[in-house]
Amino acid sequence: MDQKQNPRGKVPSFPSIGRATAASRVTAASKPKAATHVESHEKRHHGKFATAINCMDGRVQVPVINWLKENLGVDYVDMITEPGPDKLLAEGDTRALNSIKARVLISVNKHGSDTILVAAHDDCAGNPVSRAQHETDVRQSVIRIQSWKLPVKRVLGAWIGDDWKVEIIEASR
Ligand SMILES: [Zn+2]
Repeated sequence: MDQKQNPRGKVPSFPSIGRATAASRVTAASKPKAATHVESHEKRHHGKFATAINCMDGRVQVPVINWLKENLGVDYVDMITEPGPDKLLAEGDTRALNSIKARVLISVNKHGSDTILVAAHDDCAGNPVSRAQHETDVRQSVIRIQSWKLPVKRVLGAWIGDDWKVEIIEASR
């Protein structure tokens, strides 16, 4: 590949993103209106967001998005994908946790998401265990996410069976 074709100079650098974030925080802090915080998020982004921590498996994206839209009335789902995320969250590898948490925080803080759903599914290549073990892992995942003490209304744990239907097996708050 010809590297000269890569327009690297046009890609925003992380420091510039960091400055933009810091500036918007200062603006937000100058008008502390906590009561309308969520509403302002919805207005600014033209919709209500939820957060899904889902498997990277292509079969489970649409079912999770549709379930959240149909059952919680959300407009958009921020999708955080990993192979077998229930295993990662249950086992608690620091690097994996930090990566997932950083993405959840963007969804919660920048999009005002008030719901986090973690899903496990049948025939998962990333976490090839029994349904019973998946359910244990999902429950541990919900406990893990709760321990982050995020300003959300609910943390849900879901199982997606071989019919690709979303079933809530754990709910908190
Ligand atoms: Zn999977």
